[in-house]
Amino acid sequence: MAVYIFGHKSPDSDAVCAAIALADLKTKLGVESVPAMQGDPTPETKFILDRFGFSAPEFLGSGAGKQVILVDHSDLAQSLDDLKEAEILGIVDHHKLGDVTTSSPLEAWIWPVGCTCTVIKAMYGFFGVEIPKNIAGIMLCSILSDTVIFKSVTCTDQDKEAAEALGKIAGESDLKALGMEMFTVKSAVEGTPTRDLVFRDFKDFNMSGTKVGIGQLEVVDLAILDAVKPALAEEIKAVKAEEGRHSVFLLLTDIMKEGSEMLIASDDPSVVEKAFGVAPKENQVWLDGVMSRKKQVVPNFEKAFAG
Ligand code: MG
Ligand code: MG
Ligand code: MG
Repeated sequence: MAVYIFGHKSPDSDAVCAAIALADLKTKLGVESVPAMQGDPTPETKFILDRFGFSAPEFLGSGAGKQVILVDHSDLAQSLDDLKEAEILGIVDHHKLGDVTTSSPLEAWIWPVGCTCTVIKAMYGFFGVEIPKNIAGIMLCSILSDTVIFKSVTCTDQDKEAAEALGKIAGESDLKALGMEMFTVKSAVEGTPTRDLVFRDFKDFNMSGTKVGIGQLEVVDLAILDAVKPALAEEIKAVKAEEGRHSVFLLLTDIMKEGSEMLIASDDPSVVEKAFGVAPKENQVWLDGVMSRKKQVVPNFEKAFAG
C-alpha cells in the first residue's frame, strides 16, 4: 500500500511541490509514496509544474484507511476532514506546530525556515540521495514563492543556501528573474471568479475558540487588483457568514512595495487595531512591511483574540 503525501487545503506551490519531492525521496528510500493534493493547483503552481515537466498530483479527498505523511501543515483545520481515520507516518513542515496528534511515534521534520522544500533539501542530503534536476527546479520555485524571492521575514540563510544549491542542480542561474516571472504569473487575476481569488491561498484558524479565515493574494503591483477590490470586499463578507466564521481577512500583498492592504469582514473589527495598532478605514487598512501571514499576521491576531 502506497503512502500518500499531501499538503494543506487551498494548496500553494510549496504544498504541492513538497509532496512531489518528498514522494520521490521516500520512494527512493524504499517507501512507495504517492504525492497528492487537497484541491486544484493555482496558476503559479501550474506554471512551475509545466516548466519542469510535471503533471499535477492526484486529488485526495479522504485519508480513511491510508498511511499518510503531511507536508507544509500540521493543523487539523487545514488537513483532510477525516484525517483521524488515517495513520500519520510523518510531518515535514515549517509552520508553528499545529493540533495534529498521533497514536504512534512519527517521523517529524519541522524546522523554523521559510519553506518546506528547504527542509526536504536537507533530508535528501541527510539520506545521501541525489536530487533529480526537475525536482530541484520545483523545490527552488517553492522557496522563491514562500520567501517572496527572499524578501519575506520568514526567509532564513538556510533557504537562501538551499535555493542557490537547487538552482545549480536545476540549471537556473538567475533566481530573481525566475522569481519575478513566477510572481507575474501569480499576479494575473483577469477572468478568475472572485470566490476563487479569495480561496486561492486561504487558511482557517482557531483563535481562542473563534474561527478566523485569512486569505492572501501576492501581486507585483497592487494596482492590478484595483478593479476587483470592491468585489473581493463583498465576497469576504459572504465567506465570513459561512461555516461559523467570526472574521475573514484578505491580505493584498504588494511584493515590490513590501506591504499589504488588508480587507476586513469581522463581527468585531476592533481586533484589527488591537492586533496592528492602526485603525482601519472602511474595512481596510494598509500594513506597511507586512508580507507574511504566518509570522506577521497570525501571531498578532492570536494575541488580539486571546484578550
Ligand atoms: Mg503553504
Ligand atoms: Mg510552505
Ligand atoms: Mg505563501
